[in-house]
Amino acid sequence: MKTLDAVVPVYNEEAILPELHRRLTDTLSDLPYAWRVIYVDDGSRDRSPEMLAGFADGDQRVGVVHLSRNFGQQLAISAGLAMTSADVVVLLDGDLQDPPEVIPMLIGKWEEGYDVVYAVKRDRKEALPKRLLFSLFYRILRRLSNVDIPADAGNFSLMDRAVVDVINTMPERDRYVSGLRAYVGGKQIGVEFERAPRYAGQPRQSPLKLMRMATDAFFAFSELPLRFATILGFVVSGVAFLVLLNVLYQKLISGAAILGWASTMTSILFLGGIQLIAVGVIGEYIGRIYNEAKGRPAWVVGRYRNLPTGAVESRKALHEERDRV
Ligand code: UDP
Ligand code: MG
Repeated sequence: MKTLDAVVPVYNEEAILPELHRRLTDTLSDLPYAWRVIYVDDGSRDRSPEMLAGFADGDQRVGVVHLSRNFGQQLAISAGLAMTSADVVVLLDGDLQDPPEVIPMLIGKWEEGYDVVYAVKRDRKEALPKRLLFSLFYRILRRLSNVDIPADAGNFSLMDRAVVDVINTMPERDRYVSGLRAYVGGKQIGVEFERAPRYAGQPRQSPLKLMRMATDAFFAFSELPLRFATILGFVVSGVAFLVLLNVLYQKLISGAAILGWASTMTSILFLGGIQLIAVGVIGEYIGRIYNEAKGRPAWVVGRYRNLPTGAVESRKALHEERDRV
């Protein structure tokens, strides 16, 4: 029988977990596969860890990775992907915005031979400003990126084992998983679905976390900002050269070299601003290089539950001895 792993990041979702678990396991049980759900507890502070432990206690098919603290959604997903071993892996949010009932549709495409099937949001049930910002984000990213990252496709997706293996070998710490998924290539296809509203509570991705994810995505998948800085430098130098010619002309030929304080100040401020922007752009990349160079593990596992020792071996947990199966 073919095997399927579902990976779900969870951060303070106590109000949703029972319903999520029920709907997810019901859907998976209807499929002709041997399945496993891998929940990644991203350092939750509510009762989520205990609830997940409860699911795992009663059922060997439920594995849990408890991260040692909150590492953020993208790293939680990466931690889950690293623990998979099935023929096909499904990734979905833990707030029921990605309805588990859509999974059979994704599987259908996989059976047809696609390596990646990503779910495309037909209709976002979210506040207008957030929808607009997300739409803008995807469109700018598509423009900037040197990889063809599909618009309106978030985490919700299915990946063949081979694709997950490639993603798992990518060493970077800045991990925008939808981008990495697109980078791998192969046969990829989008399937439209209606995104549900969050089942309960407020988004766990704070505006700050979303901003960080967006900038990570831009800088990880594009060198265009650097090129903009260079182009801007050339343009400004060109203009400065023309001004210089004009100054020389006035000084040497027309003899009317009275240059104003205002124009001097304006050009100094203008140039200063442009230089700061360029330095800032370079700084963004250097900060990321520094982050990668430090080589720290991107996430730390507090403990595992019900996960195969083989998978766990490669990444030690703080409390690994106690919960080995
Ligand atoms: N999440 C996480 N770590 C975080 C923030 C969120 O694992 O630091 C999880 C969260 O529990 C949910 C999923 O990521 O299962 C999507 O989060 P959210 O609904 O807040 O994101 P949005 O719908 O705004 O993209
Ligand atoms: Mg959500």
